[in-house]
Order: sequence, then C-alpha cells, then structure tokens
Amino acid sequence: MSEAMNYKNLGLVNTREMFKQAMAERYAVPAYNFNNMEQLQGIIIGCAESKSPVILQVSGGARKYANSVFLPYMAMGAVQMVKDLGAEIPIALHLDHGDSFELAKSCIDSGFSSVMLDGSHHSFEKNAALTRQVVDYAHEREVTVEGELGVLAGVEDEVSHEVSHYTKPEEVEEFVAKTGVDSLAISIGTSHGAFKFKVKPGEEVPPLRFDILEEIEKRVPGFPIVLHGASSVEPEYVKMINAFGGKMDDAVGIPAEQLRRASQSAVCKINIDSDGRLAITAFIRKVFAENPAEFDPRKYLGPARDALIEMVKRKNEQVLGSAGKA
Ligand SMILES: [Zn+2]
Repeated sequence: MSEAMNYKNLGLVNTREMFKQAMAERYAVPAYNFNNMEQLQGIIIGCAESKSPVILQVSGGARKYANSVFLPYMAMGAVQMVKDLGAEIPIALHLDHGDSFELAKSCIDSGFSSVMLDGSHHSFEKNAALTRQVVDYAHEREVTVEGELGVLAGVEDEVSHEVSHYTKPEEVEEFVAKTGVDSLAISIGTSHGAFKFKVKPGEEVPPLRFDILEEIEKRVPGFPIVLHGASSVEPEYVKMINAFGGKMDDAVGIPAEQLRRASQSAVCKINIDSDGRLAITAFIRKVFAENPAEFDPRKYLGPARDALIEMVKRKNEQVLGSAGKA
C-alpha cells in the first residue's frame, strides 16, 4: 500500500464514542483477537447477532501472520458482511501491544482506527514520551490510542513477562495528562495466556485487585480503563482439548464473575484472546479425533467457527454486558 488508507474509508470507527457509551451505561466493549478468516467471521457474526459493538484486535505478530497489506481488507470485509447480515454495529480495528512509534504509524497509515502503544517495560518517563509521540500522530488522524502502566505476567505473542507489577494509582493521573491517551491498560492481577495461575485442584485463583482499580477510578474519574489477559480459560474447552488428545492440564483463567464486576466499573474494554483460541482448538481436535479421515478444511474449521460465534455471544450477553448496546 503506497498511499495512506484512512479507517473511515473501510467503514471503521475509533473507540471514542464506544467508550463514552460503555462508561455511561456500565458495560465493557469486547476486544477479540484474530489471525485468520474463520476467527474474524466468528467474532463479527457473534457480535452482529448479539448487537454488540466490537474491537477487532491484532498484535504485531498477528498482523505479520495475516499480512499487513491483506489485513485492512479483512476488516473491510467484516464491515460489509455485518451490513449484509442486516446489522448495524460500530467496529474498530485495533493494534494490540504496539511496541514502537514506527509500528503504530504503519498501522494508522494502513487503516487501523485505534492503536495501543505498550511502553510499560520502559521507565515511566520513556513510556510517557513514546506514548505521547504516538498520540500526536494518531489524534491528527482521529485515531484513538491506548497506553499501558504496570506490567502483566504471562505470554502474549512476542510479549512475555515472568511476574506482574501492579499499576501504581499515583502514577495514572500524571501519565494520562502527559500523554493525552484515550484509554489505559492497567495491571490488577489479570495475566496473558491460558496458564494464568499456578493453583492446586480445588484451590481458588487469587482475586483481581479491585482496590487498585477503585483508587485509579478516584484519581481519573470517567476515564476508560482496559483489562488485558481477561480470558476465563473456559473449563469446558480445556476439558474437550484434553479429552481429544490435547495436553493442557494446568490451564486456568479469570472467573467470569470477576470480569462481570470489572465490566460495571470504569473498565470499558476487555481483551479476550485465549478463550477464542481454546474454542477453535477444542472443536478442531474433536473432528479429527472422531473422524481421522476428514481432510476438508471446511469440515473442521466450520465447527470451530460455529463454536466461536456461540462463545462471543455468550461473553457479550453474560459477562461484558455489551449485547444489545450497538
Ligand atoms: Zn495484552
């Protein structure tokens, strides 16, 4: 793509109005990650059928995988498909964990309506300066920006940290003022990946630090907060994967009840990646285990897509509260 492509030409919107409404009506907009056509269709059909706004999210690695030239047209295809389904939902295309100004700029110039600059592994000053640089470029083009303060444990594509460092509420106000970001990802005990906690059978996972969230809400009232690493790692999928030849014994996530509570706070965006991967893997494994002679991709990717549609609808309706809000 030689010339810059504006997201509005693709039929996308930025996250500003989405978050304003989510804040006022106390729910969270889902941000589902995707890499391929079946995932994208599963997400978009699930959100169209449950009338939910949606943030389509890709990491730098996913963008490379899908091809950076191809990707904006996938999002455009999703927009057109929603219209064809007779639905009208706001759709954003968002870069997850951008790690440099160049990557964020490249995404903005190729049709993304929102980007994240994750400078959380840098010093406060460097993180703020880098985020500000992206905000200046993005806001000139009406693209929204998500920043991050605090470090999440776990693995997400190229991002990996052994331990988490909770967000310090006393830094949030200054960071938001200095950078001009539109939303902020915080660390309150969620974690990337499907193995979020080391717990023994029967043991409860450690609760999210709602005290930190409340302190942040007090310091920046009405400001949109983002939760990463917020898959529940649904036991139903893990059980299926293990029953059909997989090995994910210690997989564990964030209980839905805690996400429900977070959705009703200043948390306006909840990221869900692992649960989508698990749903797809569970159903592909099932087909292969039950019918080893199957080799038509439609016969195993089709049921995987159907499972994703059901998962997305269930999350929007029962966990995030975004169903019916579009
Ligand atoms: Zn993340």
